[in-house]
Amino acid sequence: MVDNVLIMSEETKERCAYVKKFMEEHVYPNEYALSKRNPQAAALMKELQAINKANGYWAPHLPKEAGGMGIGFLTYAYMNEIIGRSLSAPPSFGSQAPDSGNAEILFQFGSPDIKERFLKPLVAGEVRSCYSMTEPAVSGADPTGLQTRAVREGDEWVINGRKWFSSGAIGAAFAIVMCVTDPDQPPHSRMSQIVVPTDTPGFKIERRVEVWGEEDSNHPVVHYDNVRVPVTNLLGPQGAGFKLSQKRLGPGRIHHCMRALGQAQRAFDLLCNRSLNREAFGSTLAEKQTIQNWIADSLVNIQAARLLTMQAAQKIDSGDEARVEVSMIKFFVVNVACDVIDKAIQVHGAMGVTSDTPLQAMYKSARTLRIADGPDEVHRMVVSRAALRKYRTGQPWDFQSF
Ligand SMILES: Cc1cc2nc3c(=O)[nH]c(=O)nc-3n(C[C@H](O)[C@H](O)[C@H](O)COP(=O)(O)OP(=O)(O)OC[C@H]3O[C@@H](n4cnc5c(N)ncnc54)[C@H](O)[C@@H]3O)c2cc1C
Repeated sequence: MVDNVLIMSEETKERCAYVKKFMEEHVYPNEYALSKRNPQAAALMKELQAINKANGYWAPHLPKEAGGMGIGFLTYAYMNEIIGRSLSAPPSFGSQAPDSGNAEILFQFGSPDIKERFLKPLVAGEVRSCYSMTEPAVSGADPTGLQTRAVREGDEWVINGRKWFSSGAIGAAFAIVMCVTDPDQPPHSRMSQIVVPTDTPGFKIERRVEVWGEEDSNHPVVHYDNVRVPVTNLLGPQGAGFKLSQKRLGPGRIHHCMRALGQAQRAFDLLCNRSLNREAFGSTLAEKQTIQNWIADSLVNIQAARLLTMQAAQKIDSGDEARVEVSMIKFFVVNVACDVIDKAIQVHGAMGVTSDTPLQAMYKSARTLRIADGPDEVHRMVVSRAALRKYRTGQPWDFQSF
């Protein structure tokens, strides 16, 4: 039997059992040791990665030919809702953003030479990468206005522009950069994606950008100052940057949603356990109806979010881009995660906003996701446009065949 939206195959149950055990033995007890505060964190992460590699649990998002597990989106979704429970876990399975999405487009659109030079070391976990699309000067929600320019001179692209929120750029081996190569073409055919090694002269980290007040955030402003790379560093056809970004961002958004589901489920555990163990005004918090309502609403919302995510994953496995489904889950699942984490914080009282629980970090991460990879409003726009397209032509939305 293969996986479907409602039922996991026996094989997937075994894979999920492995992931759960790994999380319990190696990730949850080591969350502090794996955090930025521990100078030995990188060495510990290497150990965890070696365990998963040896057991064949490496790069679950990628096909076998790209060096991954070759399990498809739905099976990955079942595993990833467990991996996503800890912000420290994805790198131990070789599936952290933005490398996971970058590996997917390098595999789909890179030449054999690009795969050898960039994809191979990325999938092996030897290097990191970044995705350089958003710019400080123009709206990231509407990337048709991006301004970074790549001009062809002989056998080279010469790139000039300023990006920010190129997550992970500090320490990355290369960036995938969205550039205007064909300014006279229609808006969606003006751009291309080009691989830029970060040691290329002119690749300049201009400044860190503090996110949530964190001084060591890695989402910097990058100045591409007359950066020259060979024309062969182009990914896919010239002018196909938007098409590639859909290919990259669609799966990348589902990956985020799978992890957000894990975060919501972990917050739900914390919400329930705390409410059973804390007493106030003569009874446990679990006996107060307000808290019971939070628990009931959270459980139903998480389950609904799960089913929508699994449905989107199954549709992608069937060869469909599932653009409407991806937009649905991008705002719905992430808002559910924000809401459940918020309630779990509230039930912990003051402790909820300290580092004694993972909740404050989880909240910052989930709240950020309401903006990153397309703000909620843009995804709602995609969904409502799809519905209105139907009604404009006199057809109702067909919930049964959706
Ligand atoms: C932590 C973090 C990591 C990120 N990592 C990356 C990365 O690795 N690579 C990368 O290229 N980018 C990255 N981004 C950037 C992210 O994708 C953009 O911030 C996002 O696309 C929004 O663009 P913007 O910030 O320019 O907001 P704007 O486009 O200026 O939008 C601002 C607000 O306007 C509103 N809005 C926009 N359009 C509409 C509409 N149609 N209807 C109603 N309201 C609307 C929304 O409320 C939106 O939040 C990251 C962002 C964050 C916060």
